[in-house]
Amino acid sequence: MNKIFTALSFVALLSSCATVNYSYEGKAFKDAYSSIKSDELKKNLYVIADDNMEGRDTGSEGQKRAAEYIINYYKNLNISHPAEMSSYLQTVPAEYMNKKSRRGTFNDSANILAFIKGSEKPEEIIVISAHYDHVGMKDGVVYNGADDDGSGTVAVMEIAEAFKQAVKEGHGPKRSILFLHVTGEEHGLFGSSYYVDNPVFPLQNTVADLNIDMIGRDDAENRGQNYVYVIGSEMLSSDLKKINEAANAKTNQLKLNYKYDDPKDPQRLYYRSDHYNFAKKGIPVAFYFDGIHEDYHKPTDDPDKIDYVLLAKRAQLVFATAWELANRKDRIVVDKK
Ligand SMILES: [Zn+2]
Repeated sequence: MNKIFTALSFVALLSSCATVNYSYEGKAFKDAYSSIKSDELKKNLYVIADDNMEGRDTGSEGQKRAAEYIINYYKNLNISHPAEMSSYLQTVPAEYMNKKSRRGTFNDSANILAFIKGSEKPEEIIVISAHYDHVGMKDGVVYNGADDDGSGTVAVMEIAEAFKQAVKEGHGPKRSILFLHVTGEEHGLFGSSYYVDNPVFPLQNTVADLNIDMIGRDDAENRGQNYVYVIGSEMLSSDLKKINEAANAKTNQLKLNYKYDDPKDPQRLYYRSDHYNFAKKGIPVAFYFDGIHEDYHKPTDDPDKIDYVLLAKRAQLVFATAWELANRKDRIVVDKK
């Protein structure tokens, strides 16, 4: 065997190792994936949806307490805000929201941004989003919004921890991941709208938005089943739905329900959460959702009603999909309108 051949086979061996290590069968993925745990989701959700947060209405003191908890969580994990910002907070000015709102006036509020920089294509960004605001209090009753969208909020936090775990093992994401906790969703998707109007990273380099809004419960139609609604994944890219399905097949094999992708569906859910502001800008999205259940926008949307095992499985699906989006060779295509 000559030297050149030896050197070449060494290179081949190295690169095949790299491929294996980022696959769903590799240790890095498995360790990160299994770090997403129902008891950790539960611990965080009991704080986010505690009465002390007063229903997290946009711009309220209760919402600020929730923001502080989320930021401290990232600090403890050693996950920073984007270097382009001086803190985790992107202020969404009252003036911006008042202009868009037909009712009431707002105080300033803020989106929260945490960031893990990609190792190979740092300029390409995968967004994982969830809104951390809810509807506040009415007549002294706190609307805790445990599912809406406490469940998405804690899922994003837990997914961030999983990516950090991979970083520690030397397998951080090749593309960058932005963990985006938006405000003002309940009043009109204000935080996500503000973000796409004032993006921290160029939108043309923003590869996809995986948006999580309510993933901790089930609806009457799917009671007791391992399922999740996935909405909009086929709208802009012929890659994204396939990637999500492959991620699901390799992980928890949830029943993926595409009912709300029907353009004739009267609920029009594709237009009703934060991913839509990204889709409007031509960025492929997938929206993960559990359905409209009996406690939706009621004061009874409480943390004791969450199915934490199912919440973990759905968060793991989002993580597995993001993993592939971040680490695959080619950026997903935008080939539909
Ligand atoms: Zn919501």
